[in-house]
Amino acid sequence: MTNSTTVKELTHFIGGQQVAGASGRFSDVYNPATGEVIAKVPLASSVEVKAAIQKAKEAFPAWRDLSVAKRAEVVLKFRNLLTANKEKVIDLICTESGKTVEDAMGEITRGLESVDLAISAPHLVKGEYSVNVGGGINAYSAKYPLGVVAAIAPFNFPIMVPLAQTSMAVAVGNAVILKASERVPMTALYISELWKEAGLPDGIWTVVNGDKEAVNELLENPAVEAISFVGSTPVARYIYETSAKYGKRVVALGGGKNNMVVMPDADLEQVANAFISAGYGAASQRCMAISTLMAVGQDTADRLVGILKEKIEALKVGAYQDGADYGPVISPQAKQSILAAIDQGEAEGAALVVDGREKEITKNSKGFFLAPTLFDHVKPGMELYDQEIFGPVRNIVRVDSLEEAISLINEHELGNGVTIFTNDGAAARKFTTEIDVGMVGVNVPIPIPVGYHNFAGFKGSRFGDGQMFGPDQARFYTKSKMVSERWITPSDSSGLSFAFPSNK
Ligand code: NAD
Repeated sequence: MTNSTTVKELTHFIGGQQVAGASGRFSDVYNPATGEVIAKVPLASSVEVKAAIQKAKEAFPAWRDLSVAKRAEVVLKFRNLLTANKEKVIDLICTESGKTVEDAMGEITRGLESVDLAISAPHLVKGEYSVNVGGGINAYSAKYPLGVVAAIAPFNFPIMVPLAQTSMAVAVGNAVILKASERVPMTALYISELWKEAGLPDGIWTVVNGDKEAVNELLENPAVEAISFVGSTPVARYIYETSAKYGKRVVALGGGKNNMVVMPDADLEQVANAFISAGYGAASQRCMAISTLMAVGQDTADRLVGILKEKIEALKVGAYQDGADYGPVISPQAKQSILAAIDQGEAEGAALVVDGREKEITKNSKGFFLAPTLFDHVKPGMELYDQEIFGPVRNIVRVDSLEEAISLINEHELGNGVTIFTNDGAAARKFTTEIDVGMVGVNVPIPIPVGYHNFAGFKGSRFGDGQMFGPDQARFYTKSKMVSERWITPSDSSGLSFAFPSNK
């Protein structure tokens, strides 16, 4: 694993090379498993971001004018380099995010799905053609790249989300600027080198590291045509509103509060395993993590509490190389706020089933570890129910019917993912039809669509018109132009006509 005793100063990646930060402002990058600061990441000023945008703008026309097949060839080389250097990528992900090795491998596999889809860009940017729509006119639509586009990424998937946000953007001919999360910048900087090695022209791939100042420049700069954001809901809302104010195309994905509805007929042993894996995996730092088990019927809930308590108490929390079930949370601040949420849950009257606060690893480790916590009798109005808690604190909510479960979920501000466990087809069909959530599972722990399908939540989990991962990326990162063309021969008559054009 990466030597975590030296604090190195990271850079940006601009114009095809590493560029030192010039703002004088830095942020600490931790190894969350040891609690050590392993690097300092520069926080770009708006002047530095402006210069990076200018370089991207200058590089764009030549990349746009290359054939889409040639561009796809570069993406294919990048894909091969990524797989050839998988071990290095896993090392970086684990070191800076604290994920387990197994989890990092899963993240890379899912990220590669987006790269694979981008390789098929020639197919996805095909237009439409109509012969003789009237008066000898042929009409066609064609997709053109936008120009400079920006992606702003969260910490919890150092490679999968950036790949999902950017691979197609590159393939369809844009110049891409990634504002990586300042908490996990090393993976993004490393893949910059792979893009270069794959033959991507300088300026087409940029990484600017930074915070709100860098983001604001991307949102406000007129040369940036589109913004793709993934992160928490309050920031997603801000990104959406500000991007719209500056006339940009925008999709901003926010947080999740995802329920697993359990019908009385479900196999509770399977439910318990699914809930624990999907709930506590990655220390619950996933937008699609299951945060609430919604048990239909008191008996279902009572039986589940018994099974869950024992299994959760047995979970192994530890560093990535230790064969742990999950690792630390991302920062000391995150750990403190999650501990505060547990205190608050208790104060609001939820019943503790498993208390992670007093466990040895929570209290005495230098890493940002939190043993798992489970609450029962959680209700709307409690912080535990209303807010996304991005750490290993999970809930049981008791309802009397499927109808009550559906209406509670539909009333919640967030609507990213949801799943139902049942063998009753009619219940499953009612659920998938009536539920107001973007990604729905039936007997599936985390209903994340595969990379060649679109991905996005509803309500406060997504702002703007666009989806992530799948073919919608090709639409989002291109503009469709409609051309009507006619070739005039000397025998064609062309007298004056003041009538609105119609299809003669
Ligand atoms: P975050 O919102 O704190 O940060 C996301 C990005 O926005 C980072 O690059 C950060 O530098 C930037 N940022 C933060 N505050 C900002 C501000 N005030 N102004 C401008 N930019 C700002 O999110 P995070 O903590 O990095 O990631 C976790 C969150 O992301 C969770 O809420 C999780 O559910 C969500 N998430 C959602 C999805 C999804 O697909 N819906 C996927 C992954 C993560």
